[in-house]
Amino acid sequence: MAIPTSRTKHTGVIHVDDEKCNQCGLCVSICKDGSLVMKGGRVTLGSDPVFGCYGCGHCMAICPESAVEIEGRELSLDDLLPLPDASRKTLFDDLYQLMLGCRSIRDFKKKEIEPHLIDQIIEAALTAPVVLPPSDVKLLVFKGRAKVREFAFDAIDQMAKSRWLIKPPGIWLWKMAGNEAYELMKGFGFPLINKLV
Ligand code: SF4
Ligand code: SF4
Repeated sequence: MAIPTSRTKHTGVIHVDDEKCNQCGLCVSICKDGSLVMKGGRVTLGSDPVFGCYGCGHCMAICPESAVEIEGRELSLDDLLPLPDASRKTLFDDLYQLMLGCRSIRDFKKKEIEPHLIDQIIEAALTAPVVLPPSDVKLLVFKGRAKVREFAFDAIDQMAKSRWLIKPPGIWLWKMAGNEAYELMKGFGFPLINKLV
């Protein structure tokens, strides 16, 4: 069995290099699938994994000897980046000030973003932790003001198709979903759809 994603339907193939492995067991403790187990003091493949290797890559990342490699599910050792030295880690104060100084964008400037800045943003975004297997994570970049506007109008078109949600019987469905959901739609969703479409 494998967890199917949009880009793969097979389990990952696990390779453990016995020559390099020091049998520390870190990969076994991080693998929550049971794909890796300790047997007789040695790392071996689990006989009863939950799903089969889903390619999270944690075993490769944690191995101090680069002894474990996952093949398939669009993963390879090339995906591993060197971790920063502990002295370069961002501490709470710096992180807090950074986050405090950020707000979401409401009005975009009429100015193209320089390609190297887009590359840097993508590079940073690629380090984000994911819950899904990595082979199901996608990043969508709209290049240019025209594309952003096109996307905005597509979103409004979709909303227009959902207009029935703000009329009976749609409203009854929201009421059946519970008071909290209905109040949220009444105070936010309905006025927004009414204004935009
Ligand atoms: S990639 Fe994830 S699921 Fe596969 S063996 Fe490593 S830790 Fe387990
Ligand atoms: S983390 Fe690496 S060195 Fe440690 S047991 Fe697993 S494969 Fe061996």
